[in-house]
Amino acid sequence: ADEEKSRVGLVGLAVMGQNLALNVAEKGFKISVFNRSGDKTDNAVARAQKEGLGDKLVGYKDMKEFVNSLQKPRSVIILVKAGAPVDATIKGLSEHMEPGDIIIDGGNEWYENTERRIEEAHAKNLLYMGMGVSGGEEGARNGPSMMPGGDVEAYEAVKEVLTASTAQTDSGACVTFVGKGGAGNFVKMVHNGIEYGDMQLISEAYDVLKTVGGLTNAELATAFNEWNAAELDSFLIEISALILAKEDDQVADGGPLVDKILDKTGMKGTGKWTVQQAAELSVAIPTIASSLDARFISGVKDERVAAEACYKTAGLAAADAATPKLSAEEKKQLVDDVRAALYASKICSYAQGMNLIRAKSTEQEWGLDLGEMARIWKGGCIIRARFLDRIKKAYDKDANLPSLLVDGEFAAELVERNESWRRVVTAAINAGVATPSMSGSLAYFDSYRRGRLPANLVQAQRDFFGSHTYERTDMEGWHHTVWSDMN
Ligand code: NAP
Repeated sequence: ADEEKSRVGLVGLAVMGQNLALNVAEKGFKISVFNRSGDKTDNAVARAQKEGLGDKLVGYKDMKEFVNSLQKPRSVIILVKAGAPVDATIKGLSEHMEPGDIIIDGGNEWYENTERRIEEAHAKNLLYMGMGVSGGEEGARNGPSMMPGGDVEAYEAVKEVLTASTAQTDSGACVTFVGKGGAGNFVKMVHNGIEYGDMQLISEAYDVLKTVGGLTNAELATAFNEWNAAELDSFLIEISALILAKEDDQVADGGPLVDKILDKTGMKGTGKWTVQQAAELSVAIPTIASSLDARFISGVKDERVAAEACYKTAGLAAADAATPKLSAEEKKQLVDDVRAALYASKICSYAQGMNLIRAKSTEQEWGLDLGEMARIWKGGCIIRARFLDRIKKAYDKDANLPSLLVDGEFAAELVERNESWRRVVTAAINAGVATPSMSGSLAYFDSYRRGRLPANLVQAQRDFFGSHTYERTDMEGWHHTVWSDMN
């Protein structure tokens, strides 16, 4: 009767869990589902029946019956709120599990929690994985990108289910065994940080075109649609075009809905973790860090409104006050320049994210394959994009590439966009339109490609006031100078 049992179980039937369960059922794997509150279990079962998957998805309201409904070794995917709810769920499951059974947490979990839970699972002879899942509701239902890490034996046991359920691309299914410990959660966290950067860069492109260029929302949607057909082809550009074209249907003659949305960003924490980890590891990620800062600044809406009035009184109007009058030709040039600036900035942002993953991998001895990470992000996830192919190619050519910025092909693309990028940042600065992630990317590029930086003066200052010593360009060793009578 083991064949009649379910291939896999899933606990947590909110947005992600319910959709992933239906996806797994649709791929032909019988799945048992459980949720703390029974109404969500009823919903999932009803939805499965409506979608013709009633024989593949079975709901349970008793944890013991749920666990006993699974084929051995029993594999359970958890998709509940990260943190304490995951511990509570593990506790419930492990009471009924046997040695060799497998727990997979699919939430956005802090990687160290996963490492602790791996230890705890091993003490009970259970196997454990922390698995990043990206793609939101739609991805979970139709094929997300999955980043599993932890016990490789657990991965082998569920590989066929994960492979069939993830997005499929011309480079294969969007899943791979990321690495041991919390590697899967860490990679998902950086994925989300990169997502913050991409979203901010796109919003800056929108702002420059709208505020400096005077493009209408319809013109913006057209531009984004054109971009989406070439090198910038990506999910986030595609949805941005759709958003810009959407009319407000809640009020009569509403106009573009995006214009009515309050300019205050929410966040759940993975972007913040990415920036904290970058600081811990001394990796510069200015594009991503500035996108987080932009969210913080967006949050102080009342202060910003007051400051706008303050500066208006003081004689400096906000950027939106002037109505730009660009000729059709100038508009076209601006659209082309912004497209180039966006792409160049994106290269910098991904270079930063990849360097952060590498630094952590080195610290933890995870042995992560950066090209493989780019490959599993090609489909299913929020940052899916044509350009990830290029990143994979760069690392395939040279796995030890110190930065994507020195890959020959990316370098050529950056040089090609150099002037456009500077024109956009300059125009934005002159108009008083902040482009923190685009200009931050440019500063990153300019710092990274410069053999000598003004850090010599910082070292001299450190030595002056704190005897921190300095190295010289022309002599070995550490030196200290009595700089003046003040020393
Ligand atoms: P969620 O809103 O994060 O969590 C709701 C689920 O957690 C419900 O099933 C709820 O059960 C359960 N839960 C909460 N506290 C619990 C407790 N103490 N014990 C047991 N169960 C508890 O759901 P979600 O949005 O589907 O996300 C699930 C995970 O995937 C999260 O880690 C999230 O960060 C991650 N994720 C979400 C998305 C997305 O687009 N939403 C994308 C990628 C990853 P009840 O029904 O009983 O309250």
